[in-house]
Amino acid sequence: MAVPQNKVTRSRRNMRRAHDSLIAGNPAECPNCGELKRPHHVCGACGYYDDREVIAQADEIDLDEDAA
Ligand SMILES: [Zn+2]
Repeated sequence: MAVPQNKVTRSRRNMRRAHDSLIAGNPAECPNCGELKRPHHVCGACGYYDDREVIAQADEIDLDEDAA
């Protein structure tokens, strides 16, 4: 098994981890429905991109059809 030849110092370990932080997303408001969406992506709420519908949305889904 490979074994590290030298101890990684606190300084060097922390320098390595300096690039490990996650960056926040940059959500933008959908111009069609106002929901927050990822920039340059189809809106997940209404299926619109660039002022036109690219993913058809079902009008109404009744999940409790058989339960009642
Ligand atoms: Zn939308």
